Amino acid sequence: MVAEIAVNVASLVGTFHFYVPRDLEGSLQAGHLVTVPFSGRDAQGVVVGLHDDPPDDLPIERLRPIIDLIDPAPVLTRAQLDLAYWISHTYLTPLIDAITLMFPPGLARQAETVFCLAADDEDGSAATGSPEVRSPSPLQVNLLALLEKRGGSLRSGQIDHALPRQNWRTTAQALVRAGRLTKFTRLEAPALRAKQIRTARLIAEAALLAQVREHLSRSAAKQERLTAALDFLAEQARPVDVAWVYAASGCSLADLRDLAERGLVDLADAEVWRDPLAGREFVAEAAPPLTAAQASAWERIRPALAGTDSGAFLLHGVTGAGKTEIYLSALEAVLAQGRRAIVLVPEISLTPQTVRRFAARFPGRIAVWHSQLNEGERYDTWRRARAGLVDVIIGARSALFAPLPGLGLIVLDEEHDEAYKQDPPQGVAYHAREAALHYAKQIGAVCLLGSATPDVATYFRARRGELTLLELPRRVMGHTQKIQEQAARLNLTSVFRPAGELAQSIDLPPVEVVDMRQELRVGNLSSFSRRLSTALHETLSARRQAILFLNRRGSASFVFCRDCGQPLKCPNCETPLTHHAGARELQCHHCGHHEPQPEACPKCNSRRVKYFGLGTEKLVDEVRAAFPEATVVRWDRDVTRTRGAHELILHQFTSGQADVLVGTQMIAKGLDLPLVTLVGVISADVGLGLPDFRATERNFQLLTQVAGRAGRSLLGGQVILQTFQPEHYAIQAASAHDYAGFYAREIAYRKDLGYPPFRRLIRLLYRHTQAERAEAEAGVVAAQLRMRIKDQKIVGAELAGPAPAFFGKIGLEYRWQILVRAPDPATLVRGLP
Ligand code: ADP
Ligand code: ZN
Ligand code: ZN
Repeated sequence: MVAEIAVNVASLVGTFHFYVPRDLEGSLQAGHLVTVPFSGRDAQGVVVGLHDDPPDDLPIERLRPIIDLIDPAPVLTRAQLDLAYWISHTYLTPLIDAITLMFPPGLARQAETVFCLAADDEDGSAATGSPEVRSPSPLQVNLLALLEKRGGSLRSGQIDHALPRQNWRTTAQALVRAGRLTKFTRLEAPALRAKQIRTARLIAEAALLAQVREHLSRSAAKQERLTAALDFLAEQARPVDVAWVYAASGCSLADLRDLAERGLVDLADAEVWRDPLAGREFVAEAAPPLTAAQASAWERIRPALAGTDSGAFLLHGVTGAGKTEIYLSALEAVLAQGRRAIVLVPEISLTPQTVRRFAARFPGRIAVWHSQLNEGERYDTWRRARAGLVDVIIGARSALFAPLPGLGLIVLDEEHDEAYKQDPPQGVAYHAREAALHYAKQIGAVCLLGSATPDVATYFRARRGELTLLELPRRVMGHTQKIQEQAARLNLTSVFRPAGELAQSIDLPPVEVVDMRQELRVGNLSSFSRRLSTALHETLSARRQAILFLNRRGSASFVFCRDCGQPLKCPNCETPLTHHAGARELQCHHCGHHEPQPEACPKCNSRRVKYFGLGTEKLVDEVRAAFPEATVVRWDRDVTRTRGAHELILHQFTSGQADVLVGTQMIAKGLDLPLVTLVGVISADVGLGLPDFRATERNFQLLTQVAGRAGRSLLGGQVILQTFQPEHYAIQAASAHDYAGFYAREIAYRKDLGYPPFRRLIRLLYRHTQAERAEAEAGVVAAQLRMRIKDQKIVGAELAGPAPAFFGKIGLEYRWQILVRAPDPATLVRGLP
């Protein structure tokens, strides 16, 4: 028998054939992880197929045998293997790279080799006849003695430990060849317990605390850390993750242990999900009765789940329309059948409330797959999932590849989010939404997509009937009990109205659009329009909170005129130009056109041509200067990179210790903030002019989501949108909460220009440390493609470029790109060098 194997060497194209040894015949299956000889060493590989005969051009004598089976359970299910083939084919990636997407990181390192004394060797009688044994080297003697002493077998890690810094592996190989040792490989078993996070809680009485507080340490620095930790803990009602304490006080685990020894603090292990509102907000443990709109959507999904047919649904409804409640109903139905589910969210650390709702509804049956798990923890989660010990996995895009047996449902929340797309150099290219739709169909599961602002292409597919479109037009907003508890805690009178048996609602917030050109005309050069400034004053004096949102995407290089509001465009192809400060020029990333940085606007001759690049930091300074009485906190990637900082900032804001939150796209996701009554969008346009056909759509999605942040308050709320292009349809539609209106304009525009979903676009990227090489190679490929299009007479195919990529240089590499637009560009490109 012959096995076809994808050898685990990154980016290795193709599969290889190996001979299946007798002892593995019958047990070997597709999906098994094995060791094979490859280029003179042992490599791991995954069995992708078993055949009776070798391929025609390869006589069986030339095949080398598989060395070992590493784990008796396959590392990939048959369904996952098929999905890997699909990813490899669709995204033009080597099969092995698609397969390793489904491994937990470090799987290779988890495999350990076990060495045993050969059977006839156990009594110590030396075998004879082999040259190595007749004159054994000192290391051979040591190794054999070690094995004998330790019961005849040891793992490689144990031998490393016992014989440090010695090259015992070569010696061991020689002994294996001589028949003195046998070896086999296996995967480490998972740790028995799930991820445990240590928590801290203040247990000291106030009197004791007052007594010891000032005399905790002779070191002034330590004294300061310890008191800071105690002060922070004193504010917390419940045990908190120690990471918070570290971030808040600068103390270490050793410091906390110190406090624990004195009986001031209790340290505990508990599976915790860090949610800044945990313990402060009511989370329904039982399913509430569905509202009428929810019930009619659910009646469409239920039959698909009951059968084993696959089904794909798009659930469209504004934030707070009750989509998550539908996901929960679907989960309940699937779990009741003994099947399992995967729930994907764009970014897990930004959706703690959602995670907590799932965990509250299905306690003990959920595992969270997130980026803060370390390698060992991920491996454990993976092992538990493979063993069927987990019923639901919630996580970011890669959670789609969890090896859950009996999968019945895949949920993708916020399906429009870019985080679902993985692009090199981050890793293998794939889109989790497309992969999920394909996977669900392949295994007969239901795929449920949800969004307030569906991707235009997804909505288009739903309208064409490829997905079932379900609309939840009205807001639910909140469970009656949650609203009541919030109102009581904050001492407010809620303006929400009943909307179902246990549901409360409120209308979408009014959105005001402010024309920033007018502000300039009256000489207001600050970042705040007069309208926003007044509204901020009102909000602060009413002791309410405000969010200021800054769209920073690509802002550093976007060029536009402050007087006519026009982005500067390429004379050849109308693509907005980007500014490259280094070269002091403007570049078109579509056709390669470049021109010197202009002094005046080509349209209206104004000299106020700006390279837009306001950062959050500068904005914070401006707010502080204009509103000295306000406490301002900043929330963006730079700040939240530190572990724990993110929760801390939110905690500060949700507990009312800050008045204004300044942030970037991150604040569009996430939380319900009951005291926020004003959302100000500082610059609604940035992003509209980016050289990407999706830029308008992204801007619309973002503005709609940011607008949805306001008006979730018990007190209602308002949104102020500042813009230089008030007449732009994306801004008009976002301010009217009008998805349908936006969709109609956008889809017509794309149809006109032949953009997706009408034709597809592929980007080929060439990277090289030498600028000329990157350009030259891209040029060669572009010429080949043009030939193909001509030879094969392909209609509707076009190339743009080669041109420098949007990020023309990353690190030391120069990047050139070619855009291929065609009905099926993958077929056109497949097989190119
Ligand atoms: P979405 O996912 O569309 O943003 P959610 O499902 O999170 O909406 O619903 C918004 C809020 O309303 C949540 O707090 C949820 O608990 C509550 N809710 C949703 N449906 C109901 C219902 N039928 N009865 C009571 N509360 C509900
Ligand atoms: Zn102008
Ligand atoms: Zn151009």
